[in-house]
Amino acid sequence: MDYYETLGLTRTATPEEIKKAYRQNALKFHPDKNPGDPEAEKKFKEISEAYEALSDEKKRQIYDRHGKAGLDGSGMGHAGGFSSMDEALHTFMSAFGGAGSDNIFESFFGGGGGRGHGGPHHRQGASKRVNITVKFEEAAHGIDKELAITNHVACAKCKGTGSTSPQGVKRCSRCKGAGQILEQRGFFSMSMPCPQCHGEGQTITDPCTDCRGEGLVKEKQHVKIHIPAGVDSGMRLKMSGHGDAGHGGGPAGDLIVFIQVEPHELFEREGDDISLDLPISFSEAALGCKKEVPSLFNHTCRLTIPESTQNGKIFRVKGEGFPNVHGHGKGDLLVKIFVETPTNLSEKQRQLLKEFGSLEGPANLPKRKGFLDKIKGIFQ
Ligand SMILES: [Zn+2]
Ligand SMILES: [Zn+2]
Repeated sequence: MDYYETLGLTRTATPEEIKKAYRQNALKFHPDKNPGDPEAEKKFKEISEAYEALSDEKKRQIYDRHGKAGLDGSGMGHAGGFSSMDEALHTFMSAFGGAGSDNIFESFFGGGGGRGHGGPHHRQGASKRVNITVKFEEAAHGIDKELAITNHVACAKCKGTGSTSPQGVKRCSRCKGAGQILEQRGFFSMSMPCPQCHGEGQTITDPCTDCRGEGLVKEKQHVKIHIPAGVDSGMRLKMSGHGDAGHGGGPAGDLIVFIQVEPHELFEREGDDISLDLPISFSEAALGCKKEVPSLFNHTCRLTIPESTQNGKIFRVKGEGFPNVHGHGKGDLLVKIFVETPTNLSEKQRQLLKEFGSLEGPANLPKRKGFLDKIKGIFQ
C-alpha cells in the first residue's frame, strides 16, 4: 500500500492537506460509525498508519526517499502495519486532539456536517444525554461499552410519513405548506407557526395506526461506544445521529455521553498523574528500605527509599500514570510517603525508644532545631 494513495493524496501534499485528508477518512471509517464492519476497520487502520508516517516530517522524508522499508529499517515504521485498533485510535486521538480542549470528541463526531433542513416539516430529532460510570481502571485502559437507550425511530409501517397512504398527506391549506403564516400587527408583519398544521406544513388525513400519525415510534437501541484510555470525570463523548430520528426526514439528534469515573480505594488521580499513599514505619524511614508498590498496569514498581526520608516525601515513577486522552504520552505514579508513628508499644520497645531518645541530638533533628531557634527569638 502507498501511504499517499491510501489517503487519496499526491506526493506534493502539504501537512494541512494530509491532516485534512486523514480527518475526513477517519470520520468515515471510524469504528463507532461502522460497528462490526471488518472492511471499515481495516481501512481505518490503514489510513491511521499512513497518517502516522506522513504527519511526522522526519518519517515522511524517510518514506519519500526509501519507502516503507526505509521506515521499518529505521525502527520508525510499523513493519506488519497497525495490528491493533488501539494504535489506530491513538493516532486518531492525536490527529483530532490538541488545542487543550476536553471535548475533542465533539470535533470528531460533530464534524460530519451537512445538516440540511429540507422544509418546514423536516426537523432534527431530539438529542439525548446519558450518564455513564466507568471504573478507575477502565478509564486508564479504555473500554468498549454498550448503551441501551430508547429512541424515537421512523415508524416501519408508514416509513416515517405518519400516513397510511401517500394520498393521506395533504398540503396544509392555510399556510400552503410553508408551516409559517404572516400575521399583520400594525405596521409589522410577523412570521409565526401555522396554527392549523402546527408548523408541519401538511396535515395527515388517514393517520398510521402504529404511530398515530407521528411517523415515529419508540425503540430500544443498543449503541456501542469506545471510551478512550485517559478519560476523566466530566468529559463528554458526542455520538452524532444516535439521538431521536428526525421528523419528516430531518436529521437525527445526537447522543451525548457524560462520563463519570469511579474513585479508586488506593489510587487518586491528579491530571494524568496517579498518586498513592505509602505508609512506612518510623524505623524504615530513618534507616531506609526497599518497597514494592502496585501500579494500575499490573506492574510492580520497586522503590528504594533512602536513609532519613521525611514524611510527605514524594517519589515519582515515570510513565505509570494515566495515558493522556489526547494521545500526548502518559502521566507518572506519585508515591507519597506517610511515616507512621508506632502504636501499641511493648515494654521492650518503650525502653529502646527511651534509650534512643536520650541519644538524639540537634544533628538528628535539623527541622526541630530550626523551629526552637525561631521561637527563642519570639519569647525573649
Ligand atoms: Zn406509522
Ligand atoms: Zn399550515
